[in-house]
Amino acid sequence: MAEKRVYCLEKDLLSSQDLLHGIVESATDAIVAINEEHHIILYNLAAENIFGYKVEEALGQDLDLLLPSAVAGKHRKYVEEFLKTGKSPVIGRIMEGKARRKNGEIFPVQISRSATKINGHWIFTAIVRDISAQKEMERRLLESEKLAAVGMAVSRIVHEIKNPLIAIGGLVLSLLKKEEDPKKRNKLELVFREVQRLEKLLSDISNFAKPLKLERKKIDLLSLCQEVLEVYRPQFEEVGIRVKFLAPPQKIEIALDENRFKEVLFNLLQNALEAMSDNGGTLELEIKPEGKKVLIFVRDTGPGIPQEVLKQLFTPFFTTKKRGTGLGLSISLKIIEAHGGRIYARNYEKGAEFIIELPYQTGDS
Ligand code: ADP
Repeated sequence: MAEKRVYCLEKDLLSSQDLLHGIVESATDAIVAINEEHHIILYNLAAENIFGYKVEEALGQDLDLLLPSAVAGKHRKYVEEFLKTGKSPVIGRIMEGKARRKNGEIFPVQISRSATKINGHWIFTAIVRDISAQKEMERRLLESEKLAAVGMAVSRIVHEIKNPLIAIGGLVLSLLKKEEDPKKRNKLELVFREVQRLEKLLSDISNFAKPLKLERKKIDLLSLCQEVLEVYRPQFEEVGIRVKFLAPPQKIEIALDENRFKEVLFNLLQNALEAMSDNGGTLELEIKPEGKKVLIFVRDTGPGIPQEVLKQLFTPFFTTKKRGTGLGLSISLKIIEAHGGRIYARNYEKGAEFIIELPYQTGDS
């Protein structure tokens, strides 16, 4: 074993248990040590905060408690290997890996491990830093760089198509005005409708590519949702879908860009309608304040979302529909994130559930 190399000007301090104890307890990284049996024998305050287990729940437990199941077996092998050979590929290096919190969440960590022999027994110590916030920031940065590149290419294409399309639309309209033969009129009307659809698509695409500027003002969320729901209600009822609105009794006032927020709800309702239009069902819109957030749930009883689709839902241009643009959800994501919120989806009982989380405090402006 290497000679002791801890230097401290205050010699008395170095031998003081209080100093070491103070360092371990005040560290912002988790410090976790295990014995040769892979059991936790040291667990500091930061470890409690990061992993969610109290010290009395963690001490004496197998380290597997803090590891994702895929990593647990491998980790034990490293320890066994080290005890046999005195070598390990993971000791003395800073590495990135995954750990598991008490609530089951698997999260990214940076770990540096060391081994020390005390009274003839090896103790393995890991200093663990929770890097989930850093990873999330990197992911967002990468995503926004990718989007910026896509945005530039898209604006150029939109620009090239838009002007000739407007010219075609104008020409068809002027022919329509003069045409009296019903068969020819039908054909011209068909062309005109398709031109309009393409114009709408181009405007969605260019809106998507532009940076988002919100115009927020204080709005009663309940009335806004109800208003949007009433616009859609006839379309749902027309195909035998029941519409349910669940909301708390109190007013929820929140600073939103009204038009942009309506756009998100329209997208979610339109998707729910399309998911259910074959077999009827129930559309549910629920508003629920929860702590410092307000949650808005849009639930349908459609076929739900397959796992491989779930992963790509919010990716621009991802669609499973014949005439879909794949832009509705990515625009919605952009709008909700600009409001400082989150939007995500999961399968719910018989169908899909979309959840919008907005920061909210009573008396918010
Ligand atoms: P589009 O509707 O043009 O396809 P979106 O971005 O709104 O674009 O949706 C992307 C994809 O997400 C859809 O093509 C569909 O596969 C899936 N999706 C969205 N909402 C639902 C839902 N309520 N139920 C099932 N699948 C959904």
